[in-house]
Amino acid sequence: MPSDDPAQALAAIRAAIDHSARLARREPGDVTLIAVSKTHAAEAIEPLLAAGQRVFGENRVQEAEAKWPDLRARWPGVTLHLVGQLQSNKAEEAVALFDAIHSVDRPSLISALAKAMDRQGKRPDCFLQVNIGDEPQKGGCAVADLPALLAAARAADLPVAGLMAVPPAAVEPAPYFALLAKLARDHDVPGLSMGMSADFETAVTLGATHVRVGSALFGARG
Ligand SMILES: *Cc1c(COP(=O)(O)O)cnc(C)c1O
Repeated sequence: MPSDDPAQALAAIRAAIDHSARLARREPGDVTLIAVSKTHAAEAIEPLLAAGQRVFGENRVQEAEAKWPDLRARWPGVTLHLVGQLQSNKAEEAVALFDAIHSVDRPSLISALAKAMDRQGKRPDCFLQVNIGDEPQKGGCAVADLPALLAAARAADLPVAGLMAVPPAAVEPAPYFALLAKLARDHDVPGLSMGMSADFETAVTLGATHVRVGSALFGARG
């Protein structure tokens, strides 16, 4: 992986997810594969759609607005997840376009999203992003701030679907995945968005309900 044939890469990743789920005595169907198509054009995305993939992730509102309305018109049943940082002034567009938002990480964004959701009568699933390694300059709330952020999200009636994290680069991710899973259990949050191309199998064994896989499906980003 990645292979030249996107359908084959998709099948291999699905098989790896199933295998990891079974190892952990989990149901493979409880893990959603988000194909992260950021930077890739429609021509690269369509083979995956043709192979049956319907859940996709993008990290920029504008890029997604440019690509997906067309693709969605041609391929029914697409679910779109925002996996990148979100500025409050883009909350309105994000709520309009996405079915799930994985980067809810501060009270001001919660207010902006709540306002947009009330106005549009549409409530995308929200994942609260945690800066699980407490790294400077990384997206996500500090681990210590999660209880307050969660309370704010619940008070604003955001549909809290899960926690999301990107562990520190170049170190073993398993302890961070385990910590995120513990935080979710402690706070009664159902979903866990964790695991990317390099580590999604580990994430699945530790409870990921959503894995965000880009380069292993599409090849390196241009
Ligand atoms: C780009 C991105 C991914 C996918 O990364 P790969 O390593 O290409 O699988 C997952 N999550 C987030 C937040 C991303 O920005």
